[in-house]
Amino acid sequence: VPEILLTNDDGVSAPGLLALRRRLIELGPVTVAAPAFEQSAVSHSLTLMHPVVVNSAYDAGERIGFSVDGKPADCVKIALAHLVDRKPDWVVSGMNAGANAGINVLYSGTVAAAVEAAFFGVPAVAVSLAKSSPETIEAAARIALRTLRAIFALPPAPGLVYNVNLPDLARGEPKGIRVTPQGFEFDPDAYEARTDPRGRRYYWLLPDKFVEPKRHDTDLGAIEAGFVSVTPLRFDLTAHERLARLADLDQTW
Ligand code: MN
Repeated sequence: VPEILLTNDDGVSAPGLLALRRRLIELGPVTVAAPAFEQSAVSHSLTLMHPVVVNSAYDAGERIGFSVDGKPADCVKIALAHLVDRKPDWVVSGMNAGANAGINVLYSGTVAAAVEAAFFGVPAVAVSLAKSSPETIEAAARIALRTLRAIFALPPAPGLVYNVNLPDLARGEPKGIRVTPQGFEFDPDAYEARTDPRGRRYYWLLPDKFVEPKRHDTDLGAIEAGFVSVTPLRFDLTAHERLARLADLDQTW
């Protein structure tokens, strides 16, 4: 029976986390350690300038774990070091409201929490939902559980993070699972320019706009086509193939 640490970046009372927890307890004991307030797009940031306070967290009066007044990476660091009795078998992060595919993987607090677990050698899965709505959240949790069961059965791969994205379920049941690389299409014109009442220019980030993928075999392409996307990620950003070609750089010093 796997012991699971559950976190997210949408906050400890987010519908996606609570719906996923209610399903995950079918697999084994689940401890929640999630941000007290929404921390979307904070990526891998940590809290340095103020103390991180931890309180008990509840779902409809039931104690589910911990509310952590910090970032997603703080939650995982503190939970693994102080809040759980023993190292969990899996860390699950999600379900996030909104896809974490393509370049958004790098801004995502949901994915960062899973990566933090991988630093500690704990296998981790980030789960995100392309379109989150009250109507589809239960179906999404059911499909997330089915996907997690399949991933938990894979041979262990230390340092690996699985990035799962579920398609918009308002368009019907997923057509299946696709294992995909990250896509890289994005909207370069993502900020709306506005003018404030004092005539000053300001900018506001727009919600993600759909950009027609050039490649369809990516995470972005799979969820657009109605499939569950599973992308294996690693946190080593080194361009290994470049190391040898750069070996002469020290000769130029
Ligand atoms: Mn989020």
